[in-house]
Formats: sequence, structure tokens, C-alpha cells
Amino acid sequence: MRKVGEGWGGSLPSNMDTLTATIFNIQPMSTEDGPGIRTTVFMKGCNMRCLWCQNPEGLAARVHLVHDTLRCIGCRTCLNGCERGAISDSGSGYKFNRGCALCLTCAANCPARAIRVIGQTVGVEELVQKLLRDKPFYDQSGGGVTFSGGECLLQHRFLTAIMPRLKGAGIHVCIDTAGHIDPPVFQAIAGQADLVLFDLKIMEDRLHRQYTGVSNALILQNAAWLGRAGIPCWIRVPVIPGYTDSEKNLRGIALFLKENMPSLARVDLLGYNDLCANDYAMLDRDYPLAGTPRVAESAMLHFQEIMAQSGAGMVSISNYQKGE
Ligand code: SF4
Ligand code: SF4
Repeated sequence: MRKVGEGWGGSLPSNMDTLTATIFNIQPMSTEDGPGIRTTVFMKGCNMRCLWCQNPEGLAARVHLVHDTLRCIGCRTCLNGCERGAISDSGSGYKFNRGCALCLTCAANCPARAIRVIGQTVGVEELVQKLLRDKPFYDQSGGGVTFSGGECLLQHRFLTAIMPRLKGAGIHVCIDTAGHIDPPVFQAIAGQADLVLFDLKIMEDRLHRQYTGVSNALILQNAAWLGRAGIPCWIRVPVIPGYTDSEKNLRGIALFLKENMPSLARVDLLGYNDLCANDYAMLDRDYPLAGTPRVAESAMLHFQEIMAQSGAGMVSISNYQKGE
């Protein structure tokens, strides 16, 4: 079954030594991004704009600065010290314009450490060596490495280079994707993964466009291909009150999975939480879902029953208001 993508993994990009990725976090000891204990690499850049995005630091593809208004003591050292005039006071926080050369003088001189760099570039070998440090944990727990984001497949050339290196070292490799990617690219990378974590959000295309900024056509096409190719996959469905949690939507997802992914191992229903609200504030972005309640346990149990009709081997629920 794992024929698609074979052959592709044998030839690495010729510039492998110089290939870099832009990432915004490396999370060790993760237990939520695939089986066992994992290290999750969060890659920058996303081609969707889901209203409920939990990782807004991952939206922009480039490395950039943010100003933490809670830490700032208002000394204005940064505003007065930037030779490029790249910082301005917006009233609600400081903004960094396109003239910023990322020299980091302002961050280094800030007495309150209120200017943070979001993102860094890493090379293939540098990241491989970091990820190998936790191999004993992966081996003991049946874990490994997960590439997440943002949308990790936007940096597919880097994945093309690093995935065979990790797999060659005996590490289980997962990709966590929203699937809005050209099918040839998607198939090349997913075909090399040991497991694909794939988000499905909304079945009705009009609503999908409205709430995520893009059509779901490519996503459904790629999900159906995963089913046909027999790639090991866990589907993840964010349960967002008022957006994805209608009976019609969840039944539609269950039916799609039943028809297109007959040997699906698992579906995870992930309840909404607002832990990312502070991240939006620091990025000086509006948080569109402010005030949205958490999902009640009784509702989640009902959604679990609906999703069981997908025929998946397991349906898990998490992040809900217990006892309601
Ligand atoms: S240097 Fe730091 S503390 Fe001073 S105004 Fe700038 S961000 Fe705030
Ligand atoms: S990183 Fe350098 S160029 Fe950018 S705002 Fe700070 S001092 Fe100015």
C-alpha cells in the first residue's frame, strides 16, 4: 500500500547542507501530537486563516519581533535607539515596520526584555542533532518527532531533506497538516511519514471559506488520497462552538471519513480553549473568538457518538468543560 511517494525519498535536494527552515518552537516531551513521547517542531507560515487559530505566532512565514505590553516599562529606549526608525508606538503597543533589519539591537537593549523574537532559522543537520537528543524517550515510549505549524508542508523542501535523515536514525516521523496543499507536494511528503495528523474542520465549502479563508476542495482531495493510499492517519476535528460544532457538520465529516477512509485508525475531537488569547494580544492582533465558551462534556460525548459512525478505530475527546 505504501507505493506512492516511493523512490522520491531516495534522492535528497542537492543543497541539503544549506537548506534551512523557519520555525517558532521546538516542544520536547509532547504527548498530544501523535503516539508516545514526541518532540514537536512548529514551523512558521500558514496558508489558512482559521478564526480559532491556536498558534498565531505561526501565521507569518518570516522571523519577526513582538512587543510585550505587559512587560514594557515605557522607557522608550527602543523607539529612540532604532537607527532605521522601524519601531512606532501604535497606542496599544509598538509595531515593527518593514524597514526592520532584525539587527535585534532593540531587543538586546530593552531593560525589561519586552521585545521578543518570534522564529528562528535552523539547518537540517543542526535540527537533526537537537532531535536526536531525546531518542531514548522516543524509543521507550513508542514516540518520535512531529512536524507541525503553521502549515509544515509549506516548507516541504526542508521536510524532504530532514525526514529521511530522522527515519534513517530509527525515529518515527509524523506530520501535522491542515491539508490545503497541492496534491503532488502533499503526496510526496505524506508518503514518507509514518503517521499523518490531518485536520478536518468544515464540510460546507461556503462556511469553510468564511471561517478559514480558503476552500476545502484541496483538503478533501488530499484526505481521500490518504484513505486510498492506506497511509496511517489520525483525523483531528477542532470543536469550535458556533463554527464547527453543528450536528450537520460533524455528521458530514463522519460520513466523509466512512466513505473515503475505511481503515482510519483514529479521530480526535479537540474542544475549543482560549489559551492563545494572550498570544493574539502580544502580536497586536484582534482575537476573533474572545468570549467563546468551552464545550460542555455532555455535548462532547454526543459528538463522540456521532463521530463513531465514521467507523474509525477510536474516537477521542479532549479539552472540554467537565461535569456540564
Ligand atoms: S526598551 Fe523595552 S521597556 Fe523600554 S519602551 Fe522599549 S519595549 Fe518598553
Ligand atoms: S531589530 Fe533593529 S532594525 Fe528592527 S526595530 Fe529593532 S533596532 Fe530597529
